[in-house]
Amino acid sequence: MSQDLPASIPAALFYERADAIADAARELAQQGWTPATSSNFSMRVDNDHAAITISGRDKGKLGRDDIMLVDMHGKAVGTGSRPSAETELHTQVYRRWPEVNVVLHTHSRTQSVASRLFAADGIIRLQGWELQKAIRGHTTHESVLDIPVFPNTQHMPELVAQVDAWIESGKPLHAYLINGHGIYTWGHDMAEARRHLEALEFLLGCELDLKRLNA
Ligand SMILES: [Zn+2]
Repeated sequence: MSQDLPASIPAALFYERADAIADAARELAQQGWTPATSSNFSMRVDNDHAAITISGRDKGKLGRDDIMLVDMHGKAVGTGSRPSAETELHTQVYRRWPEVNVVLHTHSRTQSVASRLFAADGIIRLQGWELQKAIRGHTTHESVLDIPVFPNTQHMPELVAQVDAWIESGKPLHAYLINGHGIYTWGHDMAEARRHLEALEFLLGCELDLKRLNA
């Protein structure tokens, strides 16, 4: 592979992360959540580095050569490959929360439609759903789970600033949507990040059904 690793990162560790990303990506692609090479996935490797999908690859067919190393400011490390355009949104999460080890970003149809429908509100408020308990720290369906919807832009620093502003306002953040685009969520490990993503996909689908039924 064309990835040179810093001496502090054993190849076995990088491969383990790359394989875990590829396995998750394949399963999420099978669900149709990563159309047309979209979406990106990453895992923390150590305090200063993350492994992330290389831009433009089919997420259903990732191998070790499709994953690269970046620093926590989204710069490529030891490779000429180009990381996903949205890498800074991943490293932002890792810098903010040292306990987070996985960030997942997908573009499912449900996520995309929900983001458009709730963009004017800037938020989707989930309340009364049993499956909210799948989200870390939520122990009852009576809890309130706010998912912000940020305007889309191709200028990443703007998106990073919007996410920072939300966090700095003191509101909890487990995931966010980008209008007309998709969702970001994360977790302490792959299982938790997958659980968050799956629960949110389901809950957004339920909210869309209620709108459709005018309920
Ligand atoms: Zn995207």
